[in-house]
Amino acid sequence: MDLKELYQEIILDHGKNPRNKKKCNGFNKDAKGNNPLCGDKVHVFLKLNDEKQVEDISFEGEGCAISIASASIMTEIIKGKDFNVAKKILENFINMLKEGSKPSINSLSDNENTTIMSLSGVKQFPMRVKCATLAWHTFLHAAEDNKKVVNTEK
Ligand code: ZN
Repeated sequence: MDLKELYQEIILDHGKNPRNKKKCNGFNKDAKGNNPLCGDKVHVFLKLNDEKQVEDISFEGEGCAISIASASIMTEIIKGKDFNVAKKILENFINMLKEGSKPSINSLSDNENTTIMSLSGVKQFPMRVKCATLAWHTFLHAAEDNKKVVNTEK
């Protein structure tokens, strides 16, 4: 199996069997996001503890396979990370999709790196970049108590 096939398989798997797709217990932050161009909607739930660690993260929503897969991958990778680390991962991820730069995150395991890299091909489809980044922007709004609904068109 080449890398491209592996990446496709990861995205398909997360799209079909999204991880953490529920309201997590005891969340203390949440935010909503909207991608009107594609019709993707996401609601991110976050439990940030006193040490500013992402104790739990989950999402609900509906949309295309890319938006669901990306939200699922995000929750899997960010869960358990310190918020500052999570923010760095998010910045790297968005740069990867917008500029094609390789994410350089020392704190990720090989497995996590492969999972996050599976979305790198989305860069070739500018319309889909919004689908793939929606949940990540929404995570940041939740963490920073920004009550505005994320809108990829604004
Ligand atoms: Zn979409």
